[in-house]
Amino acid sequence: MQAYKDTADVTHYIHGEPVRGTGQRTQPIFNPATGERPRQLVLGEAADVDAAVASAKAAFPKWGNTPPIRRARVMLRFLELMNKHRDELAAIITAEHGKVFSDAQGEVARGIDVVEFACGVPQLLKGDYTEQVSTDIDNWTVRQPLGVVAGITPFNFPCMVPCWMFPVAIATGNTFILKPSERDPSAALFMAKLLKEAGLPDGVFNVVQGDKVVVDALLAHPDVKAVSFVGSTPIANYIYETGAKHGKRVQALGGAKNHLVVMPDADLDKTVDALIGAGYGSAGERCMAVSVAVLVGDVADRIIPRLAQRAKELIIKNGMEPDAEMGPIVTRQALERIEGYIDLGVKEGAQLVVDGRGLKVKGHEDGFFTGGTLFDHVTPDMRIYKEEIFGPVLSCVRVKDFTEAVDLINAHEFGNGVACFTRDGHVAREFARRIEVGMVGINVPIPVPMAWHGFGGWKRSLFGDMHAYGEEGVRFYTKQKSIMQRWPESIEKGAEFAMPTAK
Ligand code: NAD
Repeated sequence: MQAYKDTADVTHYIHGEPVRGTGQRTQPIFNPATGERPRQLVLGEAADVDAAVASAKAAFPKWGNTPPIRRARVMLRFLELMNKHRDELAAIITAEHGKVFSDAQGEVARGIDVVEFACGVPQLLKGDYTEQVSTDIDNWTVRQPLGVVAGITPFNFPCMVPCWMFPVAIATGNTFILKPSERDPSAALFMAKLLKEAGLPDGVFNVVQGDKVVVDALLAHPDVKAVSFVGSTPIANYIYETGAKHGKRVQALGGAKNHLVVMPDADLDKTVDALIGAGYGSAGERCMAVSVAVLVGDVADRIIPRLAQRAKELIIKNGMEPDAEMGPIVTRQALERIEGYIDLGVKEGAQLVVDGRGLKVKGHEDGFFTGGTLFDHVTPDMRIYKEEIFGPVLSCVRVKDFTEAVDLINAHEFGNGVACFTRDGHVAREFARRIEVGMVGINVPIPVPMAWHGFGGWKRSLFGDMHAYGEEGVRFYTKQKSIMQRWPESIEKGAEFAMPTAK
């Protein structure tokens, strides 16, 4: 696959057209592997949000009334186009995010899963019906769309995370405004064009580029009925509180610190593979990345030398090179933050087993690269344990037994993903039951649920009641209406003043 190259300014997409909008502020978009800034992003203002909301509001009555099967047919055509162009989309992601091409392909595939799920919307919108709840009265429930809804997404999955939102929102009859991450905004525009090609009416899907200005305008806009957010915990908290204050339905997925427990009986070959892939894949910039290995009993001394060797051998280079295992960090600022955490870990007294700082990749000296870092003897009071680093830094915490491992994880403020590697079925079952985390893997390092199961963490990893996509996604984007109906030949009794009961 050719590397993606474009130099045109990145703008909004409103009412089926690319639009430059009113904004005068711009921001460079980097290629993290080279440090070059091939393009710039035009940041939106409140007036651009107004234009997008007006377009989405105008498109809603017709789209919301379109039979679900016809909305599903648009999704099916979009699915075909996503499959046809999946590698182009992956190349765009690698060019702006930096993740290796095969990983970007995987991201696109997981986004496509949700599009496939949304194609089943006629079945998902079927209501419940009870005949004869009282004599001659039937009662049924339907789910109806909310209207104009918005999605605000992070840099780390510029295709997959928007796909957690808009396919379900649109298929259920809403119109949608996406505010992508300003660091890798082009995937959203590529999908917008494919949606149009699939036959989606103008105004049903819009993109407004920008930063806090756009986010705040969406949160305050009276015609935006719901906001889905994915990003860091402080911003998720802010989105949840601000959106709720403005009377909106809000789903805000936040940060993470995911643990992988290694029991003494675990298959060490498979566990080492799992920790290396889940700790360093996508340079640790995944909300489901494993950043803490919890080593139970004597397993630490057996596994750490093997992890160290593998971390040192990681193939780190431009993500478009076929043998790359790990690419650069998204920005120089993020790289400095990650390496700052490594400095801090050393100061806090953790043992630095492999030091990834200061890595230079030949021919890419201006790229934002760091190596894989491994810490041992990390303790729960250290900031490198408590805080999300969001980089290729794996911290090992040693515990004496299973109970200590569970208590450690349950005390953490985040509860996104977790895994336990063991050969003991009873331990696995107890772990899944007792752990206070939203997504659990048993011998599965990154347990991202499939499209029909829904994605979401617990504690400070999710603000709101519903998980993303799956049936909870359908609920989030629809409101239930209950209808009770009687068609008597004639009404003989006059008004009834007692509470209606079954007769
Ligand atoms: P971020 O919170 O910096 O940005 C997310 C979005 O919020 C972006 O669109 C950004 O423009 C906007 N934003 C940033 N600052 C804002 C502010 N002050 N006010 C309003 N909006 C603001 O997150 P990021 O760095 O893009 O992504 C990484 C984070 O996302 C990590 O914390 C990661 O764990 C989290 N994440 C969570 C999940 C999940 O499902 N729980 C999935 C992916 C990423």
